Amino acid sequence: MDGHDLLEQLRGTGDWESVGDAPEHERPIRRPGVPDLSECVTHVVAGNRRMSVLKAMTTTACERDCFYCPFRAGRSAMRRVKITPDDMARGFMALYRAEAVEGLFLSSGVVRGGVSSQDAILDVGAILREKYGFRGYIHLKIMPGAERDQVVRAMALADRVSANLEAPTAERLTRIAPGKRFAEELLAPLRWVHELRQSSEGRLRASSTTEFVVGPAGEPDVELLSLTEYLHRQLGLARVYFSAFRPVPDTPLDNVAPTDDLRRIRLYQASFLIRDYGFSLEELPFTATGNLPLHTDPKRAWAEAHLREAPLEVNTASRQELLRVPGIGAKGADRILAARRRGRLRSLEDLRGVGVANVARAAPYLLLDGRRPIEQPRLF
Ligand code: SF4
Repeated sequence: MDGHDLLEQLRGTGDWESVGDAPEHERPIRRPGVPDLSECVTHVVAGNRRMSVLKAMTTTACERDCFYCPFRAGRSAMRRVKITPDDMARGFMALYRAEAVEGLFLSSGVVRGGVSSQDAILDVGAILREKYGFRGYIHLKIMPGAERDQVVRAMALADRVSANLEAPTAERLTRIAPGKRFAEELLAPLRWVHELRQSSEGRLRASSTTEFVVGPAGEPDVELLSLTEYLHRQLGLARVYFSAFRPVPDTPLDNVAPTDDLRRIRLYQASFLIRDYGFSLEELPFTATGNLPLHTDPKRAWAEAHLREAPLEVNTASRQELLRVPGIGAKGADRILAARRRGRLRSLEDLRGVGVANVARAAPYLLLDGRRPIEQPRLF
């Protein structure tokens, strides 16, 4: 199988998973001189590096019947394809050699149980690593029902592994995927990955991610973010993805309204506050319904409640405190700390001068040398 054949086989299968560090920016890629990459290739940001990754499935057949899924058993509208591990690896290497892709994300439907489907995924990884000597990026999906030894093997082959939880509790999962067992099939592999990372003395270092389908189980944001906090703090997940539900024709949820995409954006913002900015679940600005407000981002909502009347002195605040100010991110906080070693910061121009990206956004929540800053109107 060459690269064209593989892309033809995968056509129409790549829209359903979040892979990169910025899924909101995942877009189909087209390059002159290489095959139409359609929706199966996306950009992934890993560290500071941006690369193109092929999103592939070993098969689009599935014996499970998750209510939201286009690949669910019995859905006649879905074209079913099966690609052997040898063909998948050969087609991927053709695309890699043509410089059309740099890495692989590999998932599958469930056929003859999770163990068998996981074996097919592992076979592709092994062929790429051992037969072709591929040393680039591989992300392997952990199938529901996979065994612990298979997770060990996946971690040995891959840079990243993932198991999608889909919903924040077992009860919620039952409403949208009654065939899946929350604790045993979905959460357990994420626990194994964490344990293996810690106990393998650096031999198994694959990072881990998961994804939620937001909306159709009726879950409030607080449930999603409570589990997100646990996953980041206790299981060391690199990323939690939120997928706004979109009804798929010819499924049990095809008459359920789609989830507002703004909700997905607020969930990402809140998850970054938990993962990167030291916020706890209790500090997030939930409404009485347990959801985040849609009209403002959660960092600004927190600052309005806590910093508007008690602004933060830029010249003495800790890094953690600075990170809580809207408009100040990790780079901005580090630049402020570095500039403070050279002298006091007295004006918004001083902040602009050290490279704080969004000074106007931060200004209402700051003191500069004991004074609330005044933004001078710009004449030109
Ligand atoms: S197991 Fe995966 S592929 Fe199969 S129906 Fe459920 S979500 Fe879809």
